[in-house]
Amino acid sequence: MKLRAIFFVLQNMSMEIITIENVLKSMRVTVTSQREALIRKAYDFALAAHHGQKRKSGEEYIQHSLRTALNLANMGMRSRTIAAGLLHDVPEDTSVTLDEIEKNFGKEIAFLISGITKLGKIKLRETKEELYLENLRKMFLAMASDIRVVIIKLADRLNNMETLDALSEEKQRRIALETMEVYAPIANRLGIGDMKDKLEDLSFKYLDKENYEKTQKLKEEALGKSKKFIILATTEIKKELKKSGIKVVDVFGRTKHLYSLYQKLKRYDMDIAKVYDLYGVRIIVPEVADCYEALGIVHKKYHPLIGRIKDYISLPKPNGYQSIHTTVFGPDGLIMEVQIRTQKMDIESEFGIAAHWIYSDHRKDWKDFFFKKAKPIPEEELIWVKQLREWQSELGKDNQEFVESLKIDFFKNHIFAFTPMGDIIDLPEEATPIDFAYKVHSQIGHRAVGAKVDKRIVPLDYKIKNGEVVEIITSKETKNPSRDWLRFVRTSMSKSAIRKTLKKNDLLN
Ligand code: MN
Repeated sequence: MKLRAIFFVLQNMSMEIITIENVLKSMRVTVTSQREALIRKAYDFALAAHHGQKRKSGEEYIQHSLRTALNLANMGMRSRTIAAGLLHDVPEDTSVTLDEIEKNFGKEIAFLISGITKLGKIKLRETKEELYLENLRKMFLAMASDIRVVIIKLADRLNNMETLDALSEEKQRRIALETMEVYAPIANRLGIGDMKDKLEDLSFKYLDKENYEKTQKLKEEALGKSKKFIILATTEIKKELKKSGIKVVDVFGRTKHLYSLYQKLKRYDMDIAKVYDLYGVRIIVPEVADCYEALGIVHKKYHPLIGRIKDYISLPKPNGYQSIHTTVFGPDGLIMEVQIRTQKMDIESEFGIAAHWIYSDHRKDWKDFFFKKAKPIPEEELIWVKQLREWQSELGKDNQEFVESLKIDFFKNHIFAFTPMGDIIDLPEEATPIDFAYKVHSQIGHRAVGAKVDKRIVPLDYKIKNGEVVEIITSKETKNPSRDWLRFVRTSMSKSAIRKTLKKNDLLN
């Protein structure tokens, strides 16, 4: 009953008219009077600017601004980002200019909005692939200037997807395709699992209606038969954990989202009985050690399937995801997946990079929005922060300064360049084509003889700029890097690759 009820509540929510009070109530950081005043001012400003405008769906335009802001509040974003979300379509769609926004709300908010406006001006190219690359490039460039621009864009896109019915079939398809290929992967890369799932399911609905409905039907049928056993499993697990003295933060049932379920069904001839992780029980405990202890307790209660234990705690997924997964025979022999993780891992898997803003709020009551007995998590333990720190240490910046810059500007001192095929290569500022070559492959580095940037020949010590397309010219004969390169390369990766090869071939000194 529970699982289904939640599903329908979410579906209906998107149809209702919402107010600025809904946005304020959904904020996960403390709503100080200052923050509230800023958000209300942005709302009044947007309301006046969009006055009389309607969305294609017939709704008042401000509903879209409010929905974008609500999505941001749900993601844990703070007042300035939410204000920018409320104002995000003002310069593009009304007579009010960016200058007026800057006069009223300051440089930072105006900067965020100009980033969103730029991102919105998508050039339509001839082929789908080129459109895809162009969009991807814009997203990454925006990211390089301020990650919040991308987060607002995701929140905006989510509401556009929720109201897609109002558009023509051709537009529905184009927007859904772009969402599936560009926005959902970016949400995934940023670790915002909840956003990724929602964007994928909505895109799926418009890209492949037949299979979407088929999957939905299969899921509901299976769920109808099994939900009482999932509920029973959560009760039993809770009891066993408590008996063993493990502090339980939360235990709850969950189901696989439709698009990932469909991906699995395709591999199993649409036989839902073979999808072992359709149902899951998630266990949230305070410490990492508790995770392993809980795993033992679960296995004692329910027999595990052999070879299905995945330890993403010791080996996190590339986007930082951490959890233990195991598949067991639950009550009545129901095969289900049990996910075990700490509260910190759970928040990070849902909010990803956005979790940073929640943590950086030093007021202690933010945690009440998640779990009653949560413990504040030190910023330095966050995977994303760790990863960014590693990037930063390559650049030789000291940590304190980095933490400061993190708050506004995640990817400063970092550039994104592209291969001719559109793959993204991230590099430190002032990196050269040689750094680029080594990042692609050591053999390409060793054999590099020249480089083109945006189709123009450049010297090998050229300083690559954000968004440039770099092509490395290699020679089959040259197999050794040049000693000269050590004078201008920027990454430690290329330095050590060059040194190693020179040493091996006795060319150093
Ligand atoms: Mn918009």
